[in-house]
Amino acid sequence: MPTASSPLISDLAELVGDQYVIWRPEDLLVYEYDGSIDKATPQAVVLPRNAEEVSAIVRIANRHGAYIVARGAGTSLSGGAVPLRNSVVLALTRLTALIEVDAENRVAIVEPGMINLHLSEMVSHLGLFYAPDPASQKTCTIGGNVGENAGGPHCLALGVTTNHVLGLEVVLADGSLTWLGGSERESTGYDLRGAFVGSEGTFGIATKIAVRLLPKPETIHSMLAAFRTMDAASQTVTDIIAEGMVPAALEMMDRKTIDAVEPFYHPGYPADAEAVLIVEVDGLKESVEEQTELVLKICNDNGAMEIREADDEATRAKLWETRKGAVGAYGVIAPTYYLVDGVVPRTKLREVLQQVDQIAAELNVTVANVFHAGDGNIHPAILFNERHPEEVKQAILAGARILEACVAAGGALSGEHGIGIEKQAYMPLVFTEDDLEAMARLRSAFIGEGDPEDAPIGVPSLAERFNPGKVFPGGAVHGEAYGITAPSFRRTGTSDWQ
Ligand SMILES: Cc1cc2nc3c(=O)[nH]c(=O)nc-3n(C[C@H](O)[C@H](O)[C@H](O)COP(=O)(O)OP(=O)(O)OC[C@H]3O[C@@H](n4cnc5c(N)ncnc54)[C@H](O)[C@@H]3O)c2cc1C
Repeated sequence: MPTASSPLISDLAELVGDQYVIWRPEDLLVYEYDGSIDKATPQAVVLPRNAEEVSAIVRIANRHGAYIVARGAGTSLSGGAVPLRNSVVLALTRLTALIEVDAENRVAIVEPGMINLHLSEMVSHLGLFYAPDPASQKTCTIGGNVGENAGGPHCLALGVTTNHVLGLEVVLADGSLTWLGGSERESTGYDLRGAFVGSEGTFGIATKIAVRLLPKPETIHSMLAAFRTMDAASQTVTDIIAEGMVPAALEMMDRKTIDAVEPFYHPGYPADAEAVLIVEVDGLKESVEEQTELVLKICNDNGAMEIREADDEATRAKLWETRKGAVGAYGVIAPTYYLVDGVVPRTKLREVLQQVDQIAAELNVTVANVFHAGDGNIHPAILFNERHPEEVKQAILAGARILEACVAAGGALSGEHGIGIEKQAYMPLVFTEDDLEAMARLRSAFIGEGDPEDAPIGVPSLAERFNPGKVFPGGAVHGEAYGITAPSFRRTGTSDWQ
């Protein structure tokens, strides 16, 4: 157990000050987990003030042979911020500055600990906003968004984090600082910025982020429609897209989610509604009016029971309240949620949602659905009690089978939450050994060999200096904290845990 006089702790404290190094076991508890169900205790947590301190911390960790896990707000849903292998957590919550805004070129440079929503609030007076808006945007950081290549309800039309990051200042494994990309809209050479975004903290630590800002749309119109069946809501999504429209947002909630949000937000949805769809269109006034008319017609043609509309900011916020607060509201159904993140081709949405219901029934688990229907990114929330190991096991198995169903339908393992600990055992479902080997080589290209002067003591693999045990199969085990062995899959589609 570390103490204030441990060489690592005292070196860190000398750099950042005693109050910014956490090492007492009771204080470390807060950093054991993120938004996923996996947990691990760090050996210490350090809170630097700027990029130079981040760089110095990496050099100190190298000297002491310690692994490093970058942490923003710790809202990752795949175990991304969970510190495996006794890592040091490098918490970036003191790096929150808006360093520069170039309103003319619509570019901002921020520190990684800036809360996502704060950036849009800070540039709002300039008529600008930052587009990626994870439902966790009141809490999550832009550094964490870069780590996970986060999406959000409004990413359907505008693209996810990687489409809005122009450049990054990063600290590499030897402690050196470098820029990938820049604050220009175009850069030449290999797109190392693109490789870094979504690398889940395994390539280095972002210390400055240059992002693209967008002008606020002239008009925004939000609509909420309640349907008697999930099928009718799903068909509405298909029909909207088939019209060639790309709404700003297209989000769906099922009956269980409605049951969870009613006692919190009292939206008063129809008692027999099985699904609620939120559709938002934006742009020039005339085009918004045209699209609104079309969306309302499609909703009515599919038997919408009730339609609500909002075009001013306060009413829109009210209309979005249930969707953005849905995950927190699941607490009324069960104490723990495991939010699965799979992608299916939009045309397979109905079929896969039916399979999700079937899996839930077969495994006797409660599943609620809230998701970005427009891009086929589904988020079945498996609701259970983590104090009952059998329920944890069923939840993990249900998650695995749902992801397997997404892949079998031609989809992907993750839409936006990343692989982390949660999905690494399922990577062979979509990647061959050669694919994984190529990814490991890319990681090595970033991690490098380290500075020989700072050669680590007692660290078995330099290749995993940052966020060890993540992404690649064979690392950590999803559910291990509960004594559960998660299933692993082979490309034949067979699981070792039935
Ligand atoms: C209620 C709820 C709703 C959510 N909704 C969405 C949603 O709509 N869309 C979505 O995409 N996600 C969503 N998430 C997941 C989560 O909020 C995102 O993944 C978010 O990007 C994580 O940000 P964070 O600051 O919490 O990062 P953390 O959880 O602290 O870290 C996430 C990963 O990024 C790495 N990292 C953190 N900072 C840095 C850095 N500076 N440099 C390099 N790597 C770094 C970490 O090591 C880790 O691997 C939701 C989560 C919750 C709890």
